[in-house]
Amino acid sequence: MAKLDDLLEDLVTANRVLASQGIVDSFGHVSIRSPDNPKHYYLSRARAPERVERADIMEFTLEGDPVDAKGRKPYLERFIHGAAYEARPDVMAVIHNHSPGVIPYGITGHKMRPVMHMCATIGYEVPIWDQHKKFGDTNLLVESMAVGRDLAKTLGKGRTALMRGHGCIVVGHELRATVYTAVYLELNAKLQMQAEAMSKKVQFLTKGEQKKVADTTSVSNVNRAWENWCRKAERAYKE
Ligand SMILES: [Zn+2]
Repeated sequence: MAKLDDLLEDLVTANRVLASQGIVDSFGHVSIRSPDNPKHYYLSRARAPERVERADIMEFTLEGDPVDAKGRKPYLERFIHGAAYEARPDVMAVIHNHSPGVIPYGITGHKMRPVMHMCATIGYEVPIWDQHKKFGDTNLLVESMAVGRDLAKTLGKGRTALMRGHGCIVVGHELRATVYTAVYLELNAKLQMQAEAMSKKVQFLTKGEQKKVADTTSVSNVNRAWENWCRKAERAYKE
């Protein structure tokens, strides 16, 4: 799975899987860094992820300029992706979504932490980014590199960050594992909310547990989920 064609097919599949799993609706997007040029990334044109086809995938510089737009309109918030790739040479895939479970955590300041082993890759604690702190009243979108870079700062070295009143960013070293984290970030949000409704003494994963589980989440774990999700999204599975 290193050839560009295979990666771009996987990127189309990632769009469909995220839609089929309820992580994106008509909005939200997913990108990969170019395997051939680390200063470029691939992202669909502005289209609902469930509808994305191979011909929709555009190449961008990290600054968000299309390499050859061919009349296609890019997402306004593509700067989320470029700024994350710029700040984090280790990051090979980026997802931005507004999955409903994560929103309450971004607006209450109530910290999200992993409650279950499958959710360990979200990180020990999910930071919250508030655009208002630096930019005042805005339309809440990430429409420039300056705003994207501020978000990337909050993301830091982690895998996830919430965006107050908006959604979240999820990054990873590999596309499928990043989709996996986005799916389990949403599940963690729901489970944590249920647990905290039942008790004020919720037992989260310890720092050591979170690290051990995240470090041992293997390609075969991720591929087991990926095969199943491909089937549900009616996309061919390739190991
Ligand atoms: Zn958004």
